[in-house]
Amino acid sequence: MSPDQGRLLTGWGRATRSSATVASPMRAQDVVAAVMQAGPRGVIPRGLGRSYGDQAQNAGGVVLDTGGLDRILQVDAAAATVTVQSGVSLGTLTQVLGRYGLALPVVPGTAAVTVGGAVAADVHGKNHHRDGSFGRYVSRMTIVTADGAVRQVRPVDAPGDAALFWGTLGGLGLTGAVVDVDLRVVPVPSGWMSVDVVRARDLDELLDAFESADARRYSAAWVDCLARGSGAGRGVVTSADHAEPGHKRPRGSQRSDRWRPPDRSGRVRVPPWVPAGLLNRWSVAAFNDGWYRASRPGTGVLQERSRYLHPLDGVAGWNRLYGPRGFVQYQCVVPAAQAVVDLLALLRSARAPAFLAVLKRFGAAGPGPLAFPRPGWTLAVDLPAGVDGLGRLLDDLDAVVATAGGSVYLAKDARLRPELVPVFYPRIDDWRELRAQVDPSRRWQSDLARRLSL
Ligand SMILES: Cc1cc2nc3c(=O)[nH]c(=O)nc-3n(C[C@H](O)[C@H](O)[C@H](O)COP(=O)(O)OP(=O)(O)OC[C@H]3O[C@@H](n4cnc5c(N)ncnc54)[C@H](O)[C@@H]3O)c2cc1C
Repeated sequence: MSPDQGRLLTGWGRATRSSATVASPMRAQDVVAAVMQAGPRGVIPRGLGRSYGDQAQNAGGVVLDTGGLDRILQVDAAAATVTVQSGVSLGTLTQVLGRYGLALPVVPGTAAVTVGGAVAADVHGKNHHRDGSFGRYVSRMTIVTADGAVRQVRPVDAPGDAALFWGTLGGLGLTGAVVDVDLRVVPVPSGWMSVDVVRARDLDELLDAFESADARRYSAAWVDCLARGSGAGRGVVTSADHAEPGHKRPRGSQRSDRWRPPDRSGRVRVPPWVPAGLLNRWSVAAFNDGWYRASRPGTGVLQERSRYLHPLDGVAGWNRLYGPRGFVQYQCVVPAAQAVVDLLALLRSARAPAFLAVLKRFGAAGPGPLAFPRPGWTLAVDLPAGVDGLGRLLDDLDAVVATAGGSVYLAKDARLRPELVPVFYPRIDDWRELRAQVDPSRRWQSDLARRLSL
């Protein structure tokens, strides 16, 4: 494990930058050595860098690139379980599980995240209202803690340390490095999804459309944040279930019902350099209008599973579209629809060029102290970092979320005010106590941890 000194790192939003020494552990003992040798700036694990802000950065310290922990240790098809190292991507795991007719029960909007990153953010998918978040399916983890111990933790204390288990879910690498994980997986009938598409002319119609969409396993809506007047809050709601084998496939399709790796041969690639200001109020409004009009309402439309679950993975490097200053993603959850109405009104009046805005339903909260999902609505919006008045707008959005009793997602954050952390995470003190116990000298450190005084 020869470290790479002074590498500049950023999150997916490319708006946070800092340099660190990057080490690449190949096994648990390398992780132990790294944490035992950690200097005053500490160490943090990093998966595929798909968190949007500074979660996997550590200015002046060490970052552990988990890419070498890349083995799938066991697939038990009969029991529908898998044991996997933390650096394996969900895309690779999905590909292997597909051979057994199995799938991950929860996946985020991109497959390019690692198992460790999925645990550390306790990621959710379009099916949270039905299936909860990733951590629900983790039955055991190996974690290297700050004292160099390699510990087995489980959701219940027999044997294992349940508090450490729950604090690591959503703990953003600050309780220890996850080395491997036992996961429960699920059988799926085919590699296809049966998708319903509803075009909603305004926000009322959009919210109503979720009433029926919620009956399906997966649902999400794209919202046009720039449409005004009678079209304010218009959007497209898609909902889906796994398609049964023998379901009529799209005309011209040669594919079998079995899951196959997604065909990326026609994948679009954004060039390495894109001018600043390409995405502005006018270009985004025109794009949103075109997108809305081009969406075709339908019922039972067949779509390949990966295309439905990870539509943005078809455009390589799409984060560069925001130019050199990058972008931030604001994701919050609010218990009631009125707060969604208020948030969208703020975005509209700021005329912020929000190009990707996604609304989803959340179900019950998980038991961990840093669980982000809780019952209600979650809105995620991408905003260019250089846009005028952005700081003020985000503070105003925070105020609506705080008043509504909601929360902001730490895995996407790049700018939250530290005093709001206890407002959005009322059990933060339980988690801080756990961290103080397992890491009294703060060996696990990140830019985010320092910024938010975690
Ligand atoms: C296009 C896109 C869509 C997304 N959609 C969703 C979504 O629908 N739902 C959702 O929940 N999230 C979503 N995300 C966010 C993403 O799932 C999370 O940020 C995830 O944590 C990224 O995983 P990663 O492997 O890239 O980890 P990184 O970004 O490298 O790291 C994220 C955090 O995990 C920690 N970490 C990484 N590996 C380990 C490890 N082995 N042990 C301990 N800690 C570790 C890091 O320290 C860091 O704090 C999306 C991101 C993108 C880019």
